[in-house]
Amino acid sequence: MPVFAAMNNPNNDQSSSAAGDVFQASKKPCRSCVDFKSWMKSQNKAATVESTTNQKPETTTHECPLDINELGRNTWGLLHTMAANYPDQPTSDDQHRVKQFLSAFSFLYPCEMCAYDFRKRMHKEPPPTDSQSNLSQWMCRMHNQINQMLGKELFDCKKVDERWRDGWKDGSCG
Ligand SMILES: Cc1cc2nc3c(=O)[nH]c(=O)nc-3n(C[C@H](O)[C@H](O)[C@H](O)COP(=O)(O)OP(=O)(O)OC[C@H]3O[C@@H](n4cnc5c(N)ncnc54)[C@H](O)[C@@H]3O)c2cc1C
Repeated sequence: MPVFAAMNNPNNDQSSSAAGDVFQASKKPCRSCVDFKSWMKSQNKAATVESTTNQKPETTTHECPLDINELGRNTWGLLHTMAANYPDQPTSDDQHRVKQFLSAFSFLYPCEMCAYDFRKRMHKEPPPTDSQSNLSQWMCRMHNQINQMLGKELFDCKKVDERWRDGWKDGSCG
């Protein structure tokens, strides 16, 4: 699966490695910046899983360090679930905390190029923190922008509460 993110040169950036490179700017190997297959290739090892399409990225079979796809999937789970459970009428403290969290997240996310790309998107469209609905919709739009960049299907943001808070209307989530 192609690994890429827009790579401009904002002043506050700590710089990222080239697309698909397994090394971060620090030149340390970065497993969470590439998919599992590329990582195995970089280590001169054969991947034990078959490559699949862009729509269904490959995963490791054991309890191993996360690759870019596993990290992303798990992180989106946290981000969307946080937004889904954010108050309808947040206090100023709530708003301050979520802004701080997202700002810190956009520097600490352990895939440098993803973090860099997310910072740029947040800078362009800052998170609205005044309600659960606005924050959840914003998160959905951010995720869709990345889906689009990666050639994935877009998610219908009208269904974001069903997916991340209430469960599907057909009752399939119990
Ligand atoms: C902040 C961030 C930045 C990233 N940047 C990059 C990058 O630059 N390059 C790269 O290769 N990967 C990046 N990723 C990883 C990428 O977004 C995917 O997580 C990864 O490719 C695995 O995709 P997936 O198909 O399993 O589903 P994911 O995209 O991880 O989605 C998980 C689940 O979320 C739901 N979902 C999908 N879209 C939405 C939406 N718009 N709103 C609400 N729910 C939705 C679906 O039910 C889906 O199954 C990033 C991840 C994060 C969290």
